[in-house]
Amino acid sequence: MAVVLTVEALTDVVAQVLVRHGMSPGNARIVAAVVVAAERDGSRSHGLLRLPGYVATLKSGWVDGTAVPDVVDAAPGLVATDARNGFAQVALAASRTVLEAKARAAGIAALAIRNSHHFAALWPDVEPFAASGFVALAVVNVRSRIVVWGAKRKLLGTNPMAFACPRPGAPPLVWDQASSVVAQGEVLLAATERRPVAPGIGVDAQGAPSVDPRAILDGGAMMPFADHKGSAIAFMVEILAAALTGGRFGFEDRSAAFPGAQTSNAGQCIIVIEPSRTAGNAFGTRVEALIAQLLASGVSRLPGEHRYARRRRALADGIAIAERDHAAVMALLEA
Ligand code: NDP
Repeated sequence: MAVVLTVEALTDVVAQVLVRHGMSPGNARIVAAVVVAAERDGSRSHGLLRLPGYVATLKSGWVDGTAVPDVVDAAPGLVATDARNGFAQVALAASRTVLEAKARAAGIAALAIRNSHHFAALWPDVEPFAASGFVALAVVNVRSRIVVWGAKRKLLGTNPMAFACPRPGAPPLVWDQASSVVAQGEVLLAATERRPVAPGIGVDAQGAPSVDPRAILDGGAMMPFADHKGSAIAFMVEILAAALTGGRFGFEDRSAAFPGAQTSNAGQCIIVIEPSRTAGNAFGTRVEALIAQLLASGVSRLPGEHRYARRRRALADGIAIAERDHAAVMALLEA
C-alpha cells in the first residue's frame, strides 16, 4: 500500500520536519524542495531516504539550519559565497541571481561556495540554469569515502558532478553522477532493504571487497568508477570544490565530534556559460544534431530521460510513498 501526495503537500510535510528540528522556515523550504524533487523524479537515494540524516545532523549541532549565507561579488566573473555552515542549496539560492547576471554580462561566471553541507542529488542545482538557457557544470566534495585507485585507505569523497545543457523545445539534457561506482545513497538504500550490493562497489573495514552494504558503510569504503579515471575525477572535484572555494577537503572532516552528523562541511563550485556568446544562435541546432546522431547510433536512453518520465507521472498522479516510509516521515514530526 502507498500513500499518494502532491509535490506541494509532501514539500509542506518535509519542510515542517526540518523546521521542527531547527531549520529556519525559509531555509527549510529550499532544502525540502530538493528532497521532494528527488523523490518526485525517482532519485530514491537522495529523496525521503535522506530525511532522517538531515534530522540527525541538525540535532547534532554540526550544521546550522538557520544560516544566512554571505554572498560576495568577488570579481566580474566570480561569486564567492560563505554558506556559514549551512546547507549548500541555501547558499546557491542566495547567489543565483547575481551569478546569472554575471554569466549574462561576461558570457561565463563561476560560483564558489564554501563552508557548506550538500546532502542531496546535484541535478536540481544545475537543471534550472539550463532551463534559463545556460550550460552549467557543478561539483561538490564530501567527506572521505573513496579508496583512490592504488591506495590503501579512503581519502577522497564520492564527489559528484552534474552537467546541464539547454535544448530548444525540450527539457535540458542533464547528467549527474558520483565519482564512486554508485552513490553512497545506493548502498544506504540496499542496507535499508536488507539486500547485497553488486560486486565491485565497495570494500569492508579491512579493505577486502564486500557486497554487504553494512560492511561498506560501517568502516568500509567505496570504490571509484573506472578505477584510475574515476579517481582522477574525484581529485579534480576536490580541487574545484574545496581548494578553489576555500572549503574543507573531505579528509579534514570533523563531523565525528558531532554524534549523529551525516553531512560534510565542504564546498561546491558551479560554472555557468552563456552559449550564445561563442556559438550564436547555432548552439541549440548543434546540440540537437549531436543528440540525433547519438540516437541514430543506437542510444535508447539519454541521461535525465528516466527522471523526466517519472516527474511527469508524479506531477499527474502524485508521488506514491510506501506506507512504511510515509510513517517514518510522520514520526520525524513528533521526534
Ligand atoms: P547513476 O549512476 O544512477 O546515474 C548517473 C547518470 O547517468 C544520471 O544522470 C543518469 O540519468 C544517467 N544514467 C544512468 N543509467 C543510464 C543509462 N542506462 N543510459 C543513459 N544514462 C544513464 O548516479 P550515481 O549513483 O553516480 O549518483 C546518484 C546520485 O547521487 C546523483 O544525483 C549524485 O549527485 C548523488 N550524490 C550526491 C552526493 C552528495 O554528497 N551530495 C555524493 C555522491 C553522489 P537519470 O538521472 O535519468 O537516471
